[in-house]
Amino acid sequence: MRKNRIWLSSPHMGGSEQRYIQEAFDSNWIAPVGTNIANFEQDLETYLGSGHVAALNSGTAAIHLGLILLGVQAGDTVICQSMTFAASANPILYQGATPIFIDSEPETWNLCPIALEEAIITSIGNGKKPKAILTVHLYGVPYKIDEVRIIADKYSIPILEDSAEALGSSYKGQKCGTFGDVGVFSFNGSKIITTSGGGAIVTNSKKLKDRAIFLATQAKDNAPYYQHSEIGYNYRMSNICAGIGRGQMEVLENHIVLRRKMHAFYIALFKDIEGVTIFTVLNSNYFSNYWLSTILINPLETNGITSEDLRLAFAEENIESRPLWKPMHLQPIFHNYPYYGATIAETLFNTGLCLPSSSNLTQEDCDAIKSVVLKLFKK
Ligand SMILES: *Cc1c(COP(=O)(O)O)cnc(C)c1O
Repeated sequence: MRKNRIWLSSPHMGGSEQRYIQEAFDSNWIAPVGTNIANFEQDLETYLGSGHVAALNSGTAAIHLGLILLGVQAGDTVICQSMTFAASANPILYQGATPIFIDSEPETWNLCPIALEEAIITSIGNGKKPKAILTVHLYGVPYKIDEVRIIADKYSIPILEDSAEALGSSYKGQKCGTFGDVGVFSFNGSKIITTSGGGAIVTNSKKLKDRAIFLATQAKDNAPYYQHSEIGYNYRMSNICAGIGRGQMEVLENHIVLRRKMHAFYIALFKDIEGVTIFTVLNSNYFSNYWLSTILINPLETNGITSEDLRLAFAEENIESRPLWKPMHLQPIFHNYPYYGATIAETLFNTGLCLPSSSNLTQEDCDAIKSVVLKLFKK
């Protein structure tokens, strides 16, 4: 077995991160306050081309604050894509609201517009219009943005866009994270850029951004003593983490190129292997950062080889791979909540695999991955 583990998605420093951290030390702003935070937010706003960004200490915190900004309260319902990471859905429960889960469609693996509208119509029929629609760009692939927006507008329901996996992805030239009424990013260690842990919320006005920061810093009233008229949170990003973020923004474009190279590597690798499909964007309107490269394996076409067989073969060589996200409506914690759709997400989960996709994989790493695949699928 190889000594050095090949990771699914590992941090990849660019080199200037420590310089920005040093700036924080030199000014003694070792706090969730300081110039790195404002600069990192500015870098993100420039990159996105629109929107007002507030840096927070996690993507999960950003989703929670997003729900609060959209007015989600105890007793409300929130529509949520089922095929996602639990961090998309957990904040709905933090608010005491009820999630309504929606199946995927097979083309982008994201929110199915047909099941979405069915859920909305049924909810309204039951006298309760959902308060928000939580969308996800799974593995960096944009969801059906136009279709979902038309439905959201038809029923006047705001969109909370979980773009945690899609920094750098775009649709018709517009950056993901700027399509929702509120957008969210994550800078956790596994994401395309990292601040070790962190997140951001994207709003469409300076006023909403200021409101997010107010809530994220304990909701202190304007008074010489600590006075609070609202529930506050401790969700602001630290100035040290923001320093890492500034350095990472300098290499974001390169990370996208490198992740997309891994995707191209897998297309070439599986080209002549029947029964394996690489998850790829539908057409040129969609641009994916390919945060993770993922595949589906149909054992009926591979002489019985399954995605689990490939996962185990990788594991034997100290190479990390992982099944796709287990849909929320199949999770023990969520299975009692309403679900609309069929079995697309469930089938994806049963037949899919995430492959090593880090931007810092070497030629040697790729050769090791290739040899496991060729050995398993040898004719
Ligand atoms: C990573 C991720 C999150 C959570 O972000 P954290 O920064 O880890 O809290 C939320 N949603 C999705 C889809 C993610 O992949």
